[in-house]
Amino acid sequence: MITKETLNRIYSFRESRDWSKFHTPKDLSVAISIESAELLQYFLWNNKNSDDIKSDFKILEGIHEEIADILIYLIYLAKELDLDMDTILCDKVEKNSDKYPVSKCKGSCKKYTEL
Ligand SMILES: [Mg+2]
Repeated sequence: MITKETLNRIYSFRESRDWSKFHTPKDLSVAISIESAELLQYFLWNNKNSDDIKSDFKILEGIHEEIADILIYLIYLAKELDLDMDTILCDKVEKNSDKYPVSKCKGSCKKYTEL
């Protein structure tokens, strides 16, 4: 999980620049989508697997940056909506556990509606 210290660093970065006034839920959601598209650039026109990526420092560094961008905007969005990141993540894992019981989905990539 993300530590309180890390969250506070992220919030402090934004507050010291007076940027929260720009961070509406809509604009943060747009930013998340844009950063997600930037992440996809590393997978366009290739079939690199995890080992391929891990052995290419330049690509790995770029993916590292985009994951950070996405996570930071997600953290800001959650804060703007008074949502707790740990709760969000734990709630979703719980829901997914119900949707995808190990007995039905182990080794399968089918959607829960097709299990
Ligand atoms: Mg980016």
